[in-house]
Amino acid sequence: DNFKDYKLSSEILKSIDMLNFKSPTNVQQQVIPVALEDKDILVKSQTGSGKTAAFAIPVCEMVDWNENKPQALILTPTRELAIQVKEDVFNIGRFKRIKVPALYGKSSFAIQEKELKQKTHVVVGTPGRTIDHIKEGSFITENIKYLVIDEADEMLSMGFIEQIEEIISYLPTNRVTMLFSATMPDDIDALSKKYMNNPTKIEI
Ligand code: AMP
Repeated sequence: DNFKDYKLSSEILKSIDMLNFKSPTNVQQQVIPVALEDKDILVKSQTGSGKTAAFAIPVCEMVDWNENKPQALILTPTRELAIQVKEDVFNIGRFKRIKVPALYGKSSFAIQEKELKQKTHVVVGTPGRTIDHIKEGSFITENIKYLVIDEADEMLSMGFIEQIEEIISYLPTNRVTMLFSATMPDDIDALSKKYMNNPTKIEI
């Protein structure tokens, strides 16, 4: 497979080229074409497989630059992962000038709020701080079309299930949901049944 086989714009292909990604990894081959068709996806894959770009590439491709309110939300269990994912989305969205604030705790709420007041395409966040911004009205969720739950098993073992469900309750139901997890315990299965629409299941 080649990235040029997918329906990707020249801006996204250019950033992939600049990142020196020669060909899509296994998880990217399976996820990218399905995600570009706006289908829900449940993915069992490990860190190091290229899973971040597997969701970041279609998300960056699909967002409309002209819209000012956030169109995609990527939830991560930790601030470290949020920072990493933000960086990956920034790099992939570089030539499309994608705006991607990251929302996490132990960091200035006001600065995050200021970023959210400007044009924002993709939001990366940990559950607690993301809820705070939704409740404060700084993070407007009405235009969210893509939800990515990254490292879902970690989120659940850290006790984030209620916060995830609360965040989902603020999102439009007409959206694409992608869930990534290294393991698929029963609670993840239940979460996918409750919040995903006939997901394509991918196991790496
Ligand atoms: P991840 O599984 O998302 O943590 O990615 C693991 C590493 O693989 C990261 O350093 C990525 O930059 C790198 N990577 C992701 N996709 C590709 C690709 N198609 N070709 C080469 N490296 C990649």
